[in-house]
Amino acid sequence: MSSNKKILILPGDGIGIEVMNEVLNVIDWMTKKKSVSFDIAKKLVGGSAYDIEGDSISDTTMDEALKADAVLFGAVGGPQWDNVERSKRPEAALLRLRKELDLFANLRPAVVFDALANSSPLKSELIKSLDILILRELTSGVYFGQPRGVEKINDFDEKAIDTQSYTTSEIDRIGRVGFDLAKKRSNKVTSVEKSNVMETGMLWRKTITKLHENEFNDVKLNHMLADNCAMQLVRKPKQFDVIVTDNLFGDLLSDVAAMLTGSLGMLPSASLGAINEKGKRPGMYEPVHGSAPDIAGQDKANPLAMIMSFAMMLKYSFDMLEDSKLIEKAIQNVLSKGLRTPDIKQGNEKAISTKEMGAAVIEELNIISGS
Ligand code: NAD
Repeated sequence: MSSNKKILILPGDGIGIEVMNEVLNVIDWMTKKKSVSFDIAKKLVGGSAYDIEGDSISDTTMDEALKADAVLFGAVGGPQWDNVERSKRPEAALLRLRKELDLFANLRPAVVFDALANSSPLKSELIKSLDILILRELTSGVYFGQPRGVEKINDFDEKAIDTQSYTTSEIDRIGRVGFDLAKKRSNKVTSVEKSNVMETGMLWRKTITKLHENEFNDVKLNHMLADNCAMQLVRKPKQFDVIVTDNLFGDLLSDVAAMLTGSLGMLPSASLGAINEKGKRPGMYEPVHGSAPDIAGQDKANPLAMIMSFAMMLKYSFDMLEDSKLIEKAIQNVLSKGLRTPDIKQGNEKAISTKEMGAAVIEELNIISGS
């Protein structure tokens, strides 16, 4: 039977492979118990691909990614590839995927499960039940603006230049994603820039204001300066729903928000592109964490960020909201029962392995769905 859910699985290196195995078990469960048919292809990426195929992502794999409805990515990298030439290093695969799929919208939810509220460095009453989404523009701004480079001024001085640049259409398209996402959540967007001191900030505020007035005035919008947003995220994080911001501020603010939740092993992400001629929006889903060489191969990694990335795929690429919620609920229940991988355990709580955590999620899926 043909499927309209074509997924390319790229486990990558280190714990990427271990946590992806647990997602494959969830996919298997959905196929058997919920009769969902996925069309799955699995390929090498990162250092593993370099060792066997001579590059961190082959042209064949890139073609598969372009043809897929969604890409599920584990993590890449490791010290054994530190001296590989830059264009073939594991991280180059990630950049190529983002560039060729034109993934301009990066979604980083920061959700605190009540059972883990004590793992946050913030007081639990500040972050209990926190559910915010940072939407970062990913393909423009200061990391890509021209001119950039280092020039020699004289025998003693060099000058380094980075250029922050945004066009109206770049701001408009990320703004649209922000308003659309807010409509499916608590209907509130905070647009973040530095319009007090930056030209791009002024254009950002003007463009988002116009878009809101013309097309999204049913969504609540407020504007906030980026430095204030950093403070507010730590002071009163629950005031936010969707934060939409540029590449540089998004890079920093999403890491601040990440720390509110306590562990890298609990953070999923999605990167989305523009709707293409087939009417589909390309999407790549991956945990925020890397390949964790320090614990790779030890069955210690937390697979929940990877499993939640798959749940995001169901929500954003396949409109399978109920199934996405089912997985989130299973994770919530597993945590409420006190099951913890080493990264989220506290004090003398007993830790379970990657495989045991994956199996606990499946068991919980069985319980909730009565199968
Ligand atoms: P990392 O995210 O791999 O690890 C940071 C720390 O968090 C480590 O102590 C690790 O053990 C822990 N950790 C990470 N994920 C965990 C999980 N799921 N469960 C339990 N603990 C977890 O970051 P790093 O150490 O800076 O980088 C290691 C390698 O990963 C490098 O080669 C780096 O370039 C690469 N990296 C890749 C990606 C990606 O593929 N998207 C992202 C970040 C880093």
